[in-house]
Amino acid sequence: MENDNVWVRIKTYISVKAKTLNLKGRFEKIPDFKELINIKLNYKSLVSACVVAALVVSTVNLNVDTNKVYKININDKVIGYLETSDEYEKLVKIIKATDGVDTTQLITAKKVRDKDAKLSSSEELEKIARKELHLKMPGVIVSVDGKELFNAASKEDADRILEDVKKYYLSSIGYKDIDVKSTNIKENISISTNMIEPEKIMTAKDAYNMIIKGKGTEKTYEVQKGDTLWDIAIKNNTTIENIQSLNKTEDINKLQIGQKVKLSAREPYLNVETVADVKIQEPIPYDIEKVADSSINKGTSKVKQKGTEGLADVEKTITFVNGNEVSEKVLNKAVVQQPVKQVVAVGNKNKSYNSSSSYNVASSGKFIQPSRGYFSSYFGNRGSGYHTGLDIAGSTGSPIVAAESGVVSFAGWNGNYGNCVIISHGGGYQTLYGHASKIYVHQGQRVSRGDTVAAVGSTGRSTGPHCHFEVRLNGAPQNPLKYIR
Ligand SMILES: [Zn+2]
Repeated sequence: MENDNVWVRIKTYISVKAKTLNLKGRFEKIPDFKELINIKLNYKSLVSACVVAALVVSTVNLNVDTNKVYKININDKVIGYLETSDEYEKLVKIIKATDGVDTTQLITAKKVRDKDAKLSSSEELEKIARKELHLKMPGVIVSVDGKELFNAASKEDADRILEDVKKYYLSSIGYKDIDVKSTNIKENISISTNMIEPEKIMTAKDAYNMIIKGKGTEKTYEVQKGDTLWDIAIKNNTTIENIQSLNKTEDINKLQIGQKVKLSAREPYLNVETVADVKIQEPIPYDIEKVADSSINKGTSKVKQKGTEGLADVEKTITFVNGNEVSEKVLNKAVVQQPVKQVVAVGNKNKSYNSSSSYNVASSGKFIQPSRGYFSSYFGNRGSGYHTGLDIAGSTGSPIVAAESGVVSFAGWNGNYGNCVIISHGGGYQTLYGHASKIYVHQGQRVSRGDTVAAVGSTGRSTGPHCHFEVRLNGAPQNPLKYIR
């Protein structure tokens, strides 16, 4: 090949010249080399050289092409890589079709060589581009009773969030032997698809947390000198039980001046109603038999035989809202152990008792038990917090009587106490009767000891029918057992 000859001759010349240069250490001889190429290379060999060169270049080009991708930019920010220019076209076209915005100037594609580039689909980059350019994107609006609650990326997301909320409340129900019949959100939920601003679309986690946390803000009160829990409750138009349910027991037991006490909690966005059958063992309240006794003064009484409560296996259907029991229906009740009645000797001895002048409770400090039943929870610390009263379990509708004569200072709904009656007896004493199913008295009414003022119920924050009985001296809750005779 003549070609080869040319290259061999060039090579030989270079090596010879190199030796000469090395020996002489001078560079003036190089023009001779150029001369040699100009003269010795004929037209044919030049074409051949060019073909070789072109081949080499094209091979390199081919390698570059396999690693080339489209780098997609929004302004100076790289939002990802697409494999083909078609995908880029698709990206800008779909945004134009839905939003009427030409984004070809905003979203740019540049062919680059990057074998490590992570390729995306045009759909993925559409989402990112919409976020970057603050364009609306398809999502769903979840509304509660016609009011928008949150936006989610998809109906699947929205459904999952609502299911998780239901599960959360279901898990807060404390019964062991439980058979859940149904769990429903009481509000009317509607989910509609729409184009939504990307920043308004919540992640499943954020939406779930928002719902669980509830709406509104927490209200606090700064403790002033001399404040008792009762003062704080009165000042802020709330109840001691409500304050207790919102604050840590240790904080409430030792009130410090300047301390912040939580007064209100957030309201739930959703009310999840769960209906379940439960099997539990329940105490059976004992009856109280009253026996007239002429050796005891009228208006006083004495326990002759202490009652003991029985035990029953109970099956009931309970309705819960957000994990709190709101109503129940007993399906079956089997007595395991019968209760033993309590016998009380009631004074018959004549001693005039004038409610308007001689009910000097402040000095006697004695009250009668306001309702029949066993004590289901005592005054003082208990698992869920400090208990300001005595819970007397009883059947719904059974009478609650005034523990002492006095004037009704409150009758009505009182937050966690539910239907509530407060009677002022003078001498700084007040008694409170909570969770009633019915109230028979009104504010300002004068009542005598033993008068029926309300009926046992389970209204407010209550887990079953009982009378929450409080005795307060100058506003401070006292242990009622110290006063009940
Ligand atoms: Zn109570």
